[in-house]
Amino acid sequence: PRKPLISGNWKMHHNHFEAIQTVQKLAYRLTKDDYEAVDVSVHPPFTDLRSIQTLLQSEEIPVALGAQNCHWEEKGAFTGEVAPPMLAKLDVTYVIAGHSERRELFGETDDVVNQKVRAIVKSEMTPILCVGETLEEREAGGTEDKVSGQVRAGLAGLKAEQVGAMVIAYEPIWAIGTGRTATPDDAQATCALVRATVREVAGGDAAEAVRIQYGGSVKPGNAAELMAQPDIDGALVGGASLDADDFARIVQWRH
Ligand code: 13P
Repeated sequence: PRKPLISGNWKMHHNHFEAIQTVQKLAYRLTKDDYEAVDVSVHPPFTDLRSIQTLLQSEEIPVALGAQNCHWEEKGAFTGEVAPPMLAKLDVTYVIAGHSERRELFGETDDVVNQKVRAIVKSEMTPILCVGETLEEREAGGTEDKVSGQVRAGLAGLKAEQVGAMVIAYEPIWAIGTGRTATPDDAQATCALVRATVREVAGGDAAEAVRIQYGGSVKPGNAAELMAQPDIDGALVGGASLDADDFARIVQWRH
């Protein structure tokens, strides 16, 4: 059985003071039972990571620290970039790779995303590889080709055990920040396709182990029906993760 992972992608929101307040409120809401049932991660901006690391450690809060992006090299002349070993040193557990905003707004190709995934694994962190189709692609019947192609490209060069240990987030681009969630059936169908693709490229053990998140307008009101789907093992939450109460209610979708 795969332990669900609920991740809050804060994008470019919350300075380090706001970040501390949000995590403190979240920790106040979540219980030991929640942490036993669900893995929880928060992905603040880079400038917040050190403050949140200190808070999580000093208060012994079992929320995992995550990042939203990284470079693929370990060091070098790359002005403005952050290297995976720097994140690992801050006790970052999960790093998002290939979010659609990185792909669309910052020109990240499948190849760049694959290099990032491999660099994250090399630094002993867990990648959250993001995949998903645009509205035009969906309407043209291209969802399966787009998503399976992104999965294959993103996983190139990884060993089966490495694939099994990672996380893939299916985020239909038309559902991000739009309030338009995929229906649970549509989300399930594409997450099942992601798992089938993992089975083809990395085998059955990796496919059974890999955790697949759904992302795109996940809210307290729709989390339960999405999480009930057999191939959905968690959620990558944007807007609703900025508010500690909303995010806690998503983590507590069972009650
Ligand atoms: P929203 O939850 O705001 O739609 O964002 C989803 C997302 O992109 C998470 O990575």
